[in-house]
Amino acid sequence: MLISKGVFHKNLISLEKAKSRPQCRCGGKVVFFRAYNGESLCADCFNASIFDKVRRTISRYDMLRYGDKVGVAVSGGKDSTSLLYILSKIMKDHGSELYALTIDEGIEGYREESVRNAETLAKDLNIPLLVASYKEFFGFSLDEAMQERDAKGIKTTSCAMCGPLRRRSIDLAAEKLGVNLVATAHNLDDTLQTFYINLYSGDTERIRWLDPAYRPKQSEFKLRRIKPAMEIYEEELAFFAYLNKLPFQSESCPYMNEGIRTEIRLHLNELERKHPGTKYSTLKTVLAISSSLNLDESDRKKAIRCEKCGAVSTGRVCAACQTVELVKN
Ligand code: SF4
Ligand code: ZN
Repeated sequence: MLISKGVFHKNLISLEKAKSRPQCRCGGKVVFFRAYNGESLCADCFNASIFDKVRRTISRYDMLRYGDKVGVAVSGGKDSTSLLYILSKIMKDHGSELYALTIDEGIEGYREESVRNAETLAKDLNIPLLVASYKEFFGFSLDEAMQERDAKGIKTTSCAMCGPLRRRSIDLAAEKLGVNLVATAHNLDDTLQTFYINLYSGDTERIRWLDPAYRPKQSEFKLRRIKPAMEIYEEELAFFAYLNKLPFQSESCPYMNEGIRTEIRLHLNELERKHPGTKYSTLKTVLAISSSLNLDESDRKKAIRCEKCGAVSTGRVCAACQTVELVKN
C-alpha cells in the first residue's frame, strides 16, 4: 500500500511526543512512543523491535524455507522499501535468494518517482530489480484505463480495476524472474482493512485467505505469497523508513481515495487514536477467525482456469481479463 501524507505526519507527531518522554529502556534518547504498550524507544531499540517482529512473523508462519527464491514486490512507498531493507538484512545468511520487482502502473507525475526510489534502494542494497509495466503486459497504462472507464461511464472504482492488474503483473514479473515466492509489504492496517471489506461483502473465502498459515492446494497456486510485515502498524513502517532514511514516495496514488477501503482506514485510525491497541487486538481476532474457518466445499468457490488467459480463477473469466475487456472493448 502507498503512503498517505496523514500517516507520515502522524509519525512526526509521535517523534515530538517521544521527545518529552523518559529514556528508552537501554538509556538511549527516545525517538518513538508506542502508545499501545507504553514503550518509549530509542532509534536502535525501535529498529531492533521491527526486525524482531518480522523475524517472529516469518518463523511463526513458516514463511521462508532454505533455498527459496524470493521476489519482494516494491512499489517505492514506505511499506515496501522498508520490507526490502528489512529482508535484505535478516536474509543475509538464510540461504535464500532475494530479488525485487516493481510494477509501473503508468500514473503520470506520480509513478516515475517511486520507480526511481525502488531503483535507488535496490542498487544500494545490491539486490537485482525487475521493473515491469501494465503497458508491457496489457497494452495500456492505468491513466489510459481510467480515461476509458470515464469515457464509457463505467462505475467500477479505480482500485477495483487496478488491483487485479497489479496482482497479475506481479505474477508475470515473478515468473520472469524465476522466483517461487513473492513477499508483499501488506501491514497490520492493510490486513484489518481487507478483513472488513470481505466481512461487509460476505466473502468468507477471502477471510480464510488472511490466515498466513493457510496453504491453498499446490495445484491451484504455483506461486507462494507471504506478508512478513503483516503484524506491524502502518505508522511504524512509515517511521522505520523515515528513521533509516530510505528513499520512498511520500505522495499518495492520485486514484486512491475511491472505495470503501479509505472509509474503513479512517474509522480504524480514529478508533486507534481514542483507544490505543485496538488495531493490535483486532488483528488477533481476525487471525483467530480466519484460521478457524472451515469452509465447506459447497461454500468454496471452485478454482478453475480462466478461459481467456488460462490463469487460476474463481470465475469463467478471471478478474484481470475482465478488466482488460472493460478497457479494450
Ligand atoms: Fe494502489 Fe488503487 Fe492506486 Fe492501483 S489505483 S496503485 S490499487 S491505490
Ligand atoms: Zn484471465
